Amino acid sequence: MLFKTFAKEELKILFEIIAAHNRVVGPVEKARDRNNKPIYAFEDVHEFHDIQLNYTTTKLPAKRFFLPFKEDLSTFKIEDDKWQKSIDYNIDRPVVFWGLHACDINALNKLDKVLLHSVYPMPYYAAKRKNMFIIGIDCEPQPFCFCRSMGADTALHGFDLFITDLGEKYFVEILTDTAFNFLRELKTADALEEDHILYMKKVDEKKKQFTARIDTTDLTKILDMEFQSEVWHQWGDKCLSCGSCSNVCPTCYCYGVEETVNIDLKGARKTKMLYSCNVIDFAEVAGGHNFRPLRHNRLKYRYYHKHRGFVEAFEESLCVGCGRCGETCLAGITVSEVIASVKTGSKE
Ligand code: SF4
Ligand code: SF4
Repeated sequence: MLFKTFAKEELKILFEIIAAHNRVVGPVEKARDRNNKPIYAFEDVHEFHDIQLNYTTTKLPAKRFFLPFKEDLSTFKIEDDKWQKSIDYNIDRPVVFWGLHACDINALNKLDKVLLHSVYPMPYYAAKRKNMFIIGIDCEPQPFCFCRSMGADTALHGFDLFITDLGEKYFVEILTDTAFNFLRELKTADALEEDHILYMKKVDEKKKQFTARIDTTDLTKILDMEFQSEVWHQWGDKCLSCGSCSNVCPTCYCYGVEETVNIDLKGARKTKMLYSCNVIDFAEVAGGHNFRPLRHNRLKYRYYHKHRGFVEAFEESLCVGCGRCGETCLAGITVSEVIASVKTGSKE
């Protein structure tokens, strides 16, 4: 990794160089909530001033750009009495992600483990992932962020360039040749000892701002022991089975596949749709049998996948502590409260 610094006005020049030939996706202000607080979203950006560099968490993660909620896996048509199949990985050009926070970069790293490097890689994800350039940016912890508890408050890999605001200038971590080459067109300087000290000071200040945390000590073991705990029923009674938590989660990747045939029988398509394990028919199979008809079981298995099964397979949890699920849940169910209740044996 290389460390450089550059003056703040150089960032706009970097944007112009990159945006001249690439699609750029970044955080923009989309609307205001009832308290007049901005609601942020990742969108295509064409002007530097549209990017909100000091944005708080977006409602939805950037995953719709590399793991779309709905995507055709293949289409079929009949030609000369024969089925012709065509596959499209649905990527037309590289995408530059401008300003991902550390938690969202770590979410991508976790998705890579299962969708790129496991026994059955997903080519549709791989095609998009290989065409991504990521610029990370530091953030201010929000009251609902517990990424520090999940070890996701800093990103060590999974980006090309990571920018930290040092007040007068930006401190830049460079991980790839492409990023290095872009920066050659700016006025940069090698990071000095005093820049490193300032950077570490900033990191220390950020650590102190976290107010939400969860204790993950022995969590997988505790989950094993508390599989039959009454708390799962209590949370299940609250849960609306709406699936919003999975929708907004940067690491939820479960999906269903639907096949449809055109009414004239001359074409068909196979479509993948992201799905939530909290939705009632998630575990329904052919013949109508449902392996998880009860709400508390579905909610429980979401937690077991994230904090038990994924840990067993990849030695880390499938949660980055972004807090989006808790912020979105209409029933007010948060990861920190659920985990705490499993440990104490009581929801209260
Ligand atoms: S968002 Fe809340 S209510 Fe909806 S499925 Fe998730 S935990 Fe249940
Ligand atoms: S489970 Fe909740 S806190 Fe964890 S990564 Fe998903 S949305 Fe973020």
